[in-house]
Amino acid sequence: MKYVDEFRNGKQAQAIAKRIAELVKTLQVSKQRPLQFMEVCGGHTHSIFRYGLAQFLPEEIEFVHGPGCPVCVLPMGVVDDCISIAEQPGVIFTTFGDAMRVPGSKKSLLQAKAEGHDVRMVYSPLDALQIAKQNPQREVVFFGLGFETTMPSTALTLQQAAKEQVKNFSLFCNHITIIPTIKAMLDSPDMRLDGFLGPGHVSMVIGSQPYEFISRDYHRPLVIAGFEPLDILQSVYMLVKQLVDGRCEIENQYERIVPQMGNEVALRSIGDVFELREFFEWRGMGSIDHSGVRIREKYADFDAERKFSMPRLKIADPDAAQCGEVVTGVIKPEQCKLFGKSCTPQTPIGALMVSTEGACAAHYHYGQIEIPLSQVVSR
Ligand code: SF4
Repeated sequence: MKYVDEFRNGKQAQAIAKRIAELVKTLQVSKQRPLQFMEVCGGHTHSIFRYGLAQFLPEEIEFVHGPGCPVCVLPMGVVDDCISIAEQPGVIFTTFGDAMRVPGSKKSLLQAKAEGHDVRMVYSPLDALQIAKQNPQREVVFFGLGFETTMPSTALTLQQAAKEQVKNFSLFCNHITIIPTIKAMLDSPDMRLDGFLGPGHVSMVIGSQPYEFISRDYHRPLVIAGFEPLDILQSVYMLVKQLVDGRCEIENQYERIVPQMGNEVALRSIGDVFELREFFEWRGMGSIDHSGVRIREKYADFDAERKFSMPRLKIADPDAAQCGEVVTGVIKPEQCKLFGKSCTPQTPIGALMVSTEGACAAHYHYGQIEIPLSQVVSR
């Protein structure tokens, strides 16, 4: 396929890997411990496992899987809130497919649907708005989640609902924002990261400029990376090269998509509809200041948190589940005691086993497969 195969070329992957290995050997620190690079985005986690990229790299380099899969960081209490809205009479509850399978304390949205509640999977918030227009006698709620990647479409939908005065449509807003999340990672005493693969899709919206504090204040390099195998390998090369040169900079490997100042139209729409919450609860990471957004007063009529009562309880994960340690990179997915035993993609206990971008699901599907280095293209 034009413009994709070029980024999956096995020979070129081997050539980049060879150059990375040569560079790494010149680094003193890599003789004492492996270099740890965090891929913040779940899309990168999926690509790393799917294409077996760790096999290409020398043992001196380790990927740490970060918290960039929004479904995976959904606390159980939020799933319970969704279900409590969905169970109210007359409600049509809509969301993306992945969110429907995340376990709450008693059930998932999919199970609520199986019990007869009107829970519908949609491909975009505009689909949910359309359902509201087709069902004026029902309350239609869209469960919005995700980083700045999905925020613009939700914001534009709310602006559209306001313009068309669709009174029976509201948003349960659980959107999160990337910069405070990365800062929390950097402030964590458990973390010893040598650099970041920056998220490609989020950066398409926010640009590369907001990451500059990482090099300036924390002296870590970040390379915004695309999602194909050669994108990721080239980004790792760029990170290692910075370390060898003694530099800490924000670089953009994904220039074909990511502009330095982001997408002005999307950012304006986000700014019009959303404002930062003081704090926001993450699964496995606790509360992170200013890491979530809520709906501004101006759009209060479309805010499901003001329209519906919900339990708003904090629910801890089951004791044996180690999702928090995986999502912060403290342990690898296969080191969780439940991995592949009671927790599988068919019977997920933690959310990291639900989404294809979740580290546990990606490792379950691809992690134990040995891939011949020359066959990257064929996967
Ligand atoms: S295997 Fe399951 S319980 Fe363990 S960390 Fe992964 S998702 Fe969580």
